[in-house]
Amino acid sequence: MSTCYLNGKFIPLDSARVSVLDRGFIFGDGIYEVLPVYAGRPFRLEAHLCRLEQSLVAISIVDPYGRLAWIDLIYELIAANCPAETLSIYLQVTRGVAPRNHAAPLTSIPTVFMMVSELTTGLVPAQVAAIVLEDLRWQRCDIKAISLLPNVMARTAASLAGVYEAILVRDGWVTEGAASNVFIVSRGRIKTPPKSSFILSGITRDTIVEALADTTDAVQEVEISQTELLASEEVWLTSSTRDIVSVTRLDSRPVGTGEIGVVYRRVCAAYARFKVAELANTKTPLYSSS
Ligand code: PMP
Repeated sequence: MSTCYLNGKFIPLDSARVSVLDRGFIFGDGIYEVLPVYAGRPFRLEAHLCRLEQSLVAISIVDPYGRLAWIDLIYELIAANCPAETLSIYLQVTRGVAPRNHAAPLTSIPTVFMMVSELTTGLVPAQVAAIVLEDLRWQRCDIKAISLLPNVMARTAASLAGVYEAILVRDGWVTEGAASNVFIVSRGRIKTPPKSSFILSGITRDTIVEALADTTDAVQEVEISQTELLASEEVWLTSSTRDIVSVTRLDSRPVGTGEIGVVYRRVCAAYARFKVAELANTKTPLYSSS
């Protein structure tokens, strides 16, 4: 049984309990993060914590800890589990327990929960199928909110259709996947939708943009129409837990040749090199699990 963190304590996951009056349970009033850990080293920890802070500010929850305390807690959680392993950390902050009332209470104490799970990078086939669906979400998709009902509905529809992901389209323009960002290769150029309140600013997306910035594969952050998506040579999905996955069938039709693309292979190799170099430079504090 893995060890999780709940409100100041490291405890076995199966003994963790929160109140039914927690606003996360009642209203979905909270935010979350998911970060990958390779051989005990969190990847892009500062970027994940920065996004966590932005999500907290956006929904007016005062950060219960601050940057340095978060870093300590995350390393302690890794040490309490399998410090040498490759894991993913799920971290959630809700507005806490309060009598049920839509308006946010001024005095509730946030509930903080973190758990580890297996990292799925490499477990998902590099080549998947997807469908295109209407984006039914709200206008603040940049907040990593725990209220994920439209994402759940889209992923469930994808799963029922026997495919891996739903690529979402709003008014004819590609936003992102139900739980991933989207890249395409169109007339040889790599493109991804620009940052806006209609997409989550993915850490993997940003890392790929950064890794390719000064190369001939530099990414264009531009709007992508549904028509361009369906006519593109390659389509990829990116996320912290799955890295880069190639979509070779979209809405039951082959993407490009229907095979994994040459640009995908080149970018995956460049991204892997970039990641290994950055992880090698990640300093890990020493914790012994007790
Ligand atoms: N968009 C959505 C809606 C997501 O849920 C995710 C996965 N958290 C992403 C994009 C990818 O973000 P990241 O690369 O930070 O995992």
